[in-house]
Amino acid sequence: MEDCIFCKIITGEIPSVSVYEDDDVKAFLDISQTTVGHTLLIPKKHVTNIFDYDAALSSKVLVKIPVIARAIKKSNPKILGLNIVNNNGELAYQSVFHSHFHLIPRYTESDSFSINFTNNSEKYSTNQLQEIAASIKQNLED
Ligand code: 5GP
Ligand code: ZN
Repeated sequence: MEDCIFCKIITGEIPSVSVYEDDDVKAFLDISQTTVGHTLLIPKKHVTNIFDYDAALSSKVLVKIPVIARAIKKSNPKILGLNIVNNNGELAYQSVFHSHFHLIPRYTESDSFSINFTNNSEKYSTNQLQEIAASIKQNLED
């Protein structure tokens, strides 16, 4: 796709430091290196975000996440954990609109990545949770 920086990385028009590549995916170091080894996994097919994945694309791309994750983990004994982050939509912090999965190795509690899960559990009754789940369930695809 024209003007997509990740499509240009796939063609080589924009240089990247590659970790893995096959017919369907590419993994390369994120330029920001939030932590050392921060890697992006992308499909070669231009899709905007997770909402555009069909089963065929999912089976080609998602299967590589643990493969890349294990390689990152094994690359450095100081890596004690790894966050996998996939931002979908501008509101959800997506800034490049070619789908990608961040693999962010973790070294210490105070390394340069953090994430916050607010605990709102006290605000919801079991009935409310069941209603929320039902509205999701009725939209599941076969
Ligand atoms: P998002 O915010 O969309 O989830 O993440 C986009 C990521 O792409 C950012 O972490 C950013 O550092 C990375 N990025 C943007 N431009 C380039 C580039 O030209 N090369 C590489 N390797 N990474 C990039
Ligand atoms: Zn693209």
